[in-house]
Amino acid sequence: MDEKNGTERIKQLEELLKEQQQSARLLVRRDLELARANEKLQEFDEIKSNFISVVAHQLRTPLSGIKWTLNMLLNGDLGALNNDQKTFLMKSYESNNRMITLINDMLDTDRIQSGKMHYGFRYINIVDLLDNVLFEISPEAIKRNISIEFKRKLENLPQVYVDPETMRAALQNLLENAIKYTIESGKIVLDVEQVEDMLQISINDTGIGIPEDQKKKIFERFFRGRNAVKRETDGSGLGLYIAKTIVEKHGGTIWFESEENKGTTFYFTVPIKIEDIKKN
Ligand code: ADP
Repeated sequence: MDEKNGTERIKQLEELLKEQQQSARLLVRRDLELARANEKLQEFDEIKSNFISVVAHQLRTPLSGIKWTLNMLLNGDLGALNNDQKTFLMKSYESNNRMITLINDMLDTDRIQSGKMHYGFRYINIVDLLDNVLFEISPEAIKRNISIEFKRKLENLPQVYVDPETMRAALQNLLENAIKYTIESGKIVLDVEQVEDMLQISINDTGIGIPEDQKKKIFERFFRGRNAVKRETDGSGLGLYIAKTIVEKHGGTIWFESEENKGTTFYFTVPIKIEDIKKN
C-alpha cells in the first residue's frame, strides 16, 4: 500500500515537473515574442519620427520663403502698397507665422519624444535672454494693446547654466500664451528673483485664466482649455508640454496659479549651481 502511494506520488511529481517545464518554455517563447514586438514598435516609432521630421522640414522651407517675401512686400521694398493691400498682406504674414510656429512645435515635440533634443549648456545672464524674447514678442503685445512690465528687483542676479536655444523656446511659449490669452488692454508682469539656490521667473497676466476642472491637464500634449479654444482658434496644445520638458531638463520646476476670468501666473525655476542640473 505504501509502495503504491509512493509510486503515485512520484508520478504526480513528474506530471507537475512536466507542466512546469512546459510553462517555462511558454514563458521563454512569450518573452521572445514580446521582445520582437518591442523591436518592431521601436522601428515604427523611428519611421514615424523620421516622417514627421522630413515633412516638417519640407514644409518649413517654403513657409520661410513666403515669410521673407511677405516681409519685403510689407516693408515696401517692391513698391508702395495701399492700406488695403497692406492689411491683407499682414493677415497672410500672421497666418504664415502661425504655421511656422506649429511646425516648430511639432518638431520640438518629436525631438523630445525621440530623445533627439539637443542641449548645449553654457553660462548666461537670464535677464538678457528675457529682454531678447520680450523684444521679439512686443509687436504682438502692442497690436493687442497689452502692456508688459519687466520688474528688476535685483541688479546683480547670478548667471545660470542653461541651453539658450531651448530656454528661449520655453520662455517664448509662456510669454506668447500670456499675450494670446490676455484680453485687450490687459497687463503682463514679468519678474525674476533669486529663491535660495534657484532663479525664479514668473509671468503674470490679467487674462482668461484656467478653468478649475482643467488645471490638471494643461501640461499634457495636445491639451487645449475650453475657454482658450473659444478665444484663440489656433493652437497646438504643445507649448506647455515643451516648456515643462525643457524646464525639467534644466533641473527646474514649473507650476502656475490661475483663476478663471482673472488671470494666470506661470512660475519656473532654474538652478544656479551646475551640480543641480547634472543630477537631473
Ligand atoms: P496652446 O496655447 O497652443 O493651446 P499650450 O500647450 O501652450 O497650447 O497651452 C495649453 C493650454 O493651457 C491652453 O490651451 C490654455 O487652455 C492653457 N493656458 C496656457 N497658458 C495660459 C494663460 N496664460 N492663460 C490662460 N490659459 C492658459
